[in-house]
Amino acid sequence: MSDVAPTVLLIEDDPQIRRFLRATLPAHGFRLIEAEAGERGLVEAATRNPEVVLLDLGLPDIDGLEVTRRLREWSAVPIVVLSARGLERDKVAALDAGADDYLTKPFGVEELLARLRVALRHASRAGGDVPGPVFAAGGLEVDLAARRVRTAGQEVHLTPTEFRLLAVLVKHAGKVVTQRQLLVEVWGPGAAGNAHYLRVQMHGLRHKLEKTPARPRYLITEPGVGYRLREEG
Ligand code: CA
Repeated sequence: MSDVAPTVLLIEDDPQIRRFLRATLPAHGFRLIEAEAGERGLVEAATRNPEVVLLDLGLPDIDGLEVTRRLREWSAVPIVVLSARGLERDKVAALDAGADDYLTKPFGVEELLARLRVALRHASRAGGDVPGPVFAAGGLEVDLAARRVRTAGQEVHLTPTEFRLLAVLVKHAGKVVTQRQLLVEVWGPGAAGNAHYLRVQMHGLRHKLEKTPARPRYLITEPGVGYRLREEG
């Protein structure tokens, strides 16, 4: 991390969570700006130029989905959504609206910091450097240009659909990608409702890439939401 503390904008009406983050984030090298409602949050985002936005979905004025959509009209700032357990549909809708990631309440400090690090890494990449053509994590290597995949140094042969699916996950490595997004990017807009396509291909991909497909190291399921390709192995 650079010597300038990255700024996190927290848009959240729950005073307990605000207090928790006020105690936590500055101690871990972040600067924290707070907004208690959506409209205020949009103003803060526009004027304070945060590096990451932590966004609650249930806000007193406009909801977090609306905040996400309005923010995305002019900003590419990473948005990490905070949502209560059991509200999968809201999480998915937020990700589809342009959020980058989510944390389920209650969350721990370590998970929060890890998500913030991923968000910042993506932001700095989007800010200039060209992403490397080769993705590598743990023993997994994906060369998108050469269409080559290796695990533990061994070449793996994928079907064209498996490769497309993996390539979408590589493009969004470290971030959760919704089922809908995967279906649309791999099979096209007409396939958005065909979740079973995805299950079948993911099953095949895991059997080729994972040592223990039932306990995947790379291709992580986000229950009720989608999948995430783990960036660090
Ligand atoms: Ca709330």
